[in-house]
Amino acid sequence: MDNQNSLITDFDFTMIADYFSGLNRQGPGSDEQTIKALSFIPELASLRHIADIGCGTGAQTSVLASQTKADIIANDFLPEMIEGLRKRAGRNGFLQRLQTIQCSMDELPFDSHSLDLIWAEGSIYNIGFERGLTLWKPFLRESGYIGVSDACWLTRKRPDQIDWFKEDFPEISDISAKLRIIEKLGYQAMAHFILPQDCWTENYYAPMLSYMDTFLDRHHRSPTAIAFIDRMEEEIEMYRKYGNLYGYVFFIMRKV
Ligand code: SAH
Repeated sequence: MDNQNSLITDFDFTMIADYFSGLNRQGPGSDEQTIKALSFIPELASLRHIADIGCGTGAQTSVLASQTKADIIANDFLPEMIEGLRKRAGRNGFLQRLQTIQCSMDELPFDSHSLDLIWAEGSIYNIGFERGLTLWKPFLRESGYIGVSDACWLTRKRPDQIDWFKEDFPEISDISAKLRIIEKLGYQAMAHFILPQDCWTENYYAPMLSYMDTFLDRHHRSPTAIAFIDRMEEEIEMYRKYGNLYGYVFFIMRKV
């Protein structure tokens, strides 16, 4: 395998699942930022049905549960993530309100107009920002809400290693382009904000760095495991170099 050009998706899903399910979060974020994003939704206490799409092991699901009284249907296509989430829900006391659905996020089995809120932190890129917002809209009741975080350019300057970004963040665009998509699809863009850098460095990459050795040992330092870790280290290095130029932006919108 060519380390330089291997994308995460080139690795087998067992390895990806094993690596990411061992982490507290599978993407940049924090409890505080999830709470902040939720604060833009006016009727939080009256929400009844929430879907959390691409939930991973459920760092944000736990916040959705603590900040609302709603039933939560969480989705991920990797069984290891669902298992991690169910354990977390047991620990944090929201298993009773949780239903899990293991399938791809572009094949969700929801009824139309059945959801008050759809949440997708760091996951919509898997099927594309525009495609996800298009496919999920029918599931929302009128005036229902969506909160998603996705990668954006934060300035007009681009990294020198732009080809790496084209491969690894194919959908990255500036914030205004994503706002235009939101409006084009018939949503009202209620709020957006940039996730602070510690959501990447402290909450996502630091735990990843301290977990790498354990992971490599568990995989007997196989060439594939080493290539996988090299690829993750490369991503961390990109953020160290260019983290002022790109980041995750939370978008909160309402179906109108
Ligand atoms: N929301 C979590 C996880 C983000 S990582 C967090 O912020 O910590 C993206 C998640 O989407 C992973 O758990 C991955 O397994 C899941 N995923 C990737 N492609 C998917 C797809 N097509 N359908 C459903 N889940 C998918």
